[in-house]
Formats: sequence, structure tokens, C-alpha cells
Amino acid sequence: MSLKDLAQRIKEEIPISSIIADYESIKRSGSAQVCVCPFHNDTKPSMNINDSKKLFKCFACGAAGDGISFVMKKRNLDFVDALKEICSKHGLNFDSYSVEKKINPKIEMAKKILTRSALIYRKTAQSGNFQAYKDFIKNRKLNEETATTFSLGYAPNKNTITDYLSSITDPKDREFALQTALELVLIRKDQHNPDAYYDTFRDRIMFPIWDQSGQVVGFTSRATRDDQKAKYMNSMESFMFHKGLILYGFHLAKNAIREKDAIILVEGNMDQISLFHNGFTNTVAVMGTAITEKVLERAISLTKNVYLALDSDAAGHAAMLKANKMLAERGVVAKYIEFSPQKDPDDFIKAQGSLALQEKIENAVPAMDALLEKLIPEVIPTLVDRKLEILEKASEILSPLKNDLAATERVVRFAKRIGFSAEPALITKRYEDYLSKNTEKPKFAQAKKEVEVDENSYSDSDFIPESVDETPFDISEYSPEIYLTKMEKMFLQEVVQLPSLLNMDKMNEILDLVGNDEVKKYIGKIRKITMEIDDSEYESVLLNLTNSPEYSIDLREVVTSAFYNYKPKDADTKTKQRILFDLKIKLHTEQLKNKKDEIKKLQQSVESDIEMTNLLNQLLDVDKELQKLKNAKPEKVK
Ligand SMILES: [Zn+2]
Repeated sequence: MSLKDLAQRIKEEIPISSIIADYESIKRSGSAQVCVCPFHNDTKPSMNINDSKKLFKCFACGAAGDGISFVMKKRNLDFVDALKEICSKHGLNFDSYSVEKKINPKIEMAKKILTRSALIYRKTAQSGNFQAYKDFIKNRKLNEETATTFSLGYAPNKNTITDYLSSITDPKDREFALQTALELVLIRKDQHNPDAYYDTFRDRIMFPIWDQSGQVVGFTSRATRDDQKAKYMNSMESFMFHKGLILYGFHLAKNAIREKDAIILVEGNMDQISLFHNGFTNTVAVMGTAITEKVLERAISLTKNVYLALDSDAAGHAAMLKANKMLAERGVVAKYIEFSPQKDPDDFIKAQGSLALQEKIENAVPAMDALLEKLIPEVIPTLVDRKLEILEKASEILSPLKNDLAATERVVRFAKRIGFSAEPALITKRYEDYLSKNTEKPKFAQAKKEVEVDENSYSDSDFIPESVDETPFDISEYSPEIYLTKMEKMFLQEVVQLPSLLNMDKMNEILDLVGNDEVKKYIGKIRKITMEIDDSEYESVLLNLTNSPEYSIDLREVVTSAFYNYKPKDADTKTKQRILFDLKIKLHTEQLKNKKDEIKKLQQSVESDIEMTNLLNQLLDVDKELQKLKNAKPEKVK
């Protein structure tokens, strides 16, 4: 039995209303069932639930899907964990549905040990026997709900993990588990007795660290007594844990990041927990100040609105410089939130409250401007050389923007503020000279070194960091995070509702304009299905095919939504031609606009005049084509 079988069984045996009823209170109005939609700020019941169609749809925000996707969205779970949760609530045995898959026994063992350890620490904390944990929750103004969300735990002054591993009865399994735990540095060898082990973490508040899909890969911990050597102690880098790849709490914040179309980046897990607790659920944390390209790329995979909310000390400032630069190189102008006199967002929110933080977010300025501001000395120097030094530093900050107007305007304004009276053209020229001299060698020697160290530590390792891209059931096969553009969604919806469009001559021309492979493949499937089945089966067959984890959430949502009030229909040729013409223009326009954006991005990094002219010509061509589309008229119908 596979997980697909399980999903099928859930769909057939458990009414969707009873799955949703586990989380929302459902009201009956006539034959319809409705509830308040949990996916937008709903006040009246906007979500409709249809047991015979086995679907839900919110008529306000458009969220739609089957029971499993409801649980995925609502609880922020991946496909497998959603299945697990439904099983546990409805008396099905998840474990009897296993996935056949090649597995690496060491990684599987590590996952088991890490998950189990997190659970042991959590249970120890919940036992209520440890005052240090209770004090921590109280002093940090947290509650048990937040503690549960973040699985906060407690490691007592005992060998809890060692004891657990030693209790494994099979001697081979036990030895393997102990060796793996040793590699993860969850336990250590007793120097005086090579056969004995002891726990690494003792008398500590424990915070699990997860990879992006929620698998525990390590721990960070906080001392509970003043005489402990290290106040904070992290898991060592291991084949499971790569500090430079971790965006702490990303799996918890994902949905909120999407919904709010913004991400708040903080420096430590305590900051994330605190902000999350206060309603800023789109917050994630980098591990310390180890900001790497990979981490930032993940951060901007869901939104381009980035708020850097790092500590107000020197390390936080250095991290901000680095993050700002790497983001600017990717075309993202990050905003900056300053917390002084408080030292970090956690302190700030405790001192001033969440409204004050909300205000800070709303008034946040681009990090670049904040950085430039910091360069301006209290007393403007009289020496020109000193001024040039400062101008050089400003150029360094702006350099990722290349000679974009956003940079040159800023440099001119900045020069004026530190007392230069030269013509703007001269200042710009000086900045451009800086660019041509410094394009190859980044000046943040310190920052660069840190990144290199991080990257080397992966390549030196024998293991590809599998924990990051893989979860126990290889989620990569499931629900790919593919985003459909607005027009692709519209196109898909039209085709689903009127599949006879696929028989029209112009269809292939239109498919060429669809950039998304998933959509193309899916349309191919519809074409095949409509030829093979009776029209009366169309809806149920297609829905069954679609609500499978191999499709992205986006695609599933569009298709489900299209079927929610679906009635089979056909249209005459003239109407269909009209629809196709419309779709073609819209898809083509969208494609050209995307191309335009790409060219504009390229313009920010041009190296020569020839290149610039080339790009400008391309832009002109695109504009011409766009104009042509605007004036296009459908061909006369014969
Ligand atoms: Zn809604």
C-alpha cells in the first residue's frame, strides 16, 4: 500500500466536512455546509464545503481543494504530515502505508534520533518538574502554546538521551544508534571509560532546529545557570546540520510569508519565537550572523519584500551589510528596522509592544539609506581626503545596484551631505570609476571570509546535505512549489471548464506561450483524458487525477476552484475563437512584460556601452510588440 492509496482511501471514506470539522465549526445552511474561512480574515462564513464533490472553496479569497489540501494549508504541513494528522484523528493506521524508497540508513537513524530527542526534551519540559524551564517561559513572557509550536524543551542534568539510546534492545541497532548520536554530538564519549557515554546538553533550555520541511536537524540551547560555561550552545555541524543552510522556523512561517507577502529576518531563534508569539508569524531567523546566499535565496523564494530586523550591535550591523548586499545583487532592495536603544527585536517588543513594532515595519526605510546615514559623521570633516574616504564607503554600499539611477541619485545626494560642492556629473563619474575598479573584488573582506568558510564546510563533507532537500518520505516528489502566473491560472481555468477548446486549431500556438511546464503537461493530460472517457465522467476523473501530491498547490487550487460550480457546457466555434484570441493576447502580453522586467534587471549589471545599447534595443522591440498586441483584432470568422 502506498501513500497514494492512503490518500485515496481518505478521500473515499472520510467526508471532507468531517475533516474540516476537526479545525473549524461548520454550519449548515440548507443543503450547503459553510464555515468561516481560516485562510483570510473572514468574518462571515465564506467557505463552502461540498461532501459529494469532496471539495471546499472560499468564495472570498479563492482558497480551494480537497480535505488533504485543507489540512496542509491550515496546519502548514507537507503532504505526508497532513496524511499522518488525518489518520491520527480518524483512526487510520498511517504506518501500514509505507513508501518504497531507497534510503540511507544512517540518515534515517539520525532523523529518528533527532526527532525522538526533541520529543524527550519537550516531554521533560512539560513534566512541570523543572523550575528552570518554568522560569524561562515566565521571564520570556511566553506561553505553553508558543512553547508547543516551537517544541521548546528541557535537558536536565542527567543522561536522558544516552539512557534512551542505551535502552534499545537489539545490540546491533543500539550500537548503530549510539555511533550516529555521537556523530551528531548529542552524546559524547566518557574520556575515562571508552564504553560509557554522557549527554552533551545538560541543564539547558532546548530549541530544536528544523530544515525547511520541518525535520529536526539539530538543537540550539540556552544555559539555565550562571556558572555554565557557554550561555548558548548549538549542535555541531554534522551531516544533518549545516548552520549556513538553516532558516530557522521557515516551515512554520511559510504560509504567513505568502499571505503577508513579506518576510521579517531576525538574527536569533529567541527573536523569532518572540515575534511569532506577538503575531508576526512571517518571521524567520538566520542562525547567528551566518547569513549565506543559500539562506537568503530561500528567504526571497516566497516574497521580495524583505525586512532586516537584526540586532543593533556591531555583529548585527555587519550581518545587515552582508544581507543587504547579497539581496541587492538579486534585485531586492531590503528594508531595515532599527531597534536601538534596545539590542534586538525581542527586547524591543518587550519594552515597547507589538504596535510599536508594527509601526516600525510600516515606516521602515531601505537598508541602503540607513547604511548611508550611518556613514555621515557628526562633524563634517574639512579635509577633502577624509571626505573621499567616506564617499568611497558609500560607493561600496551602493555598488551592488551598479550604475542604476537608484545608485547614482543616492551617491550625488550623499556627496552633497558630506560637503562636496562638485557637479553631480563629477560625483557620478567618481562612483562609476569605483565600480569599474571594484567589480571583481568585493570589499567586505571579513564578510566574504565568513561565507567562504560556510561553503567550504559543505564541500569538505562527504555528505550532500540531504537533510535539507530531503525529508523522511522524500517530499521533493510531492507538491512542488511551482507558481503559476495570473494568466496561466486564467488559461488553465478556461480549458478545464471548456475542454473542447483543446480541439481548436489555434491551441498549440497558445500552448507555446505558456512558460510553465507543469501547466503544459497537465493540459496534455486533459487532452488525453477527454479522448478516452465519457463526458459524464470528465469531472470526477480529472479531479481524482489532480488532487494528487505530484501537482503544485497552485495548480490544484485553480482546477478545484474551476470545478466547484462546474456544469458541463460547450460553446459555438465563434465563441471559442473569441476566447482563444483573448487568452492568446493576454498570455503573450504577460510574457512580453516578463521579458521587459528581465531586460531591466540586466541593465543594472551592464559592463559596457555596447551592452547597454543592445539592451535598450531589445527593450524597444518588446515595446513595439506590446503595442502591436494592444491594437490586434481577431481574425474574421469564416
Ligand atoms: Zn478565504
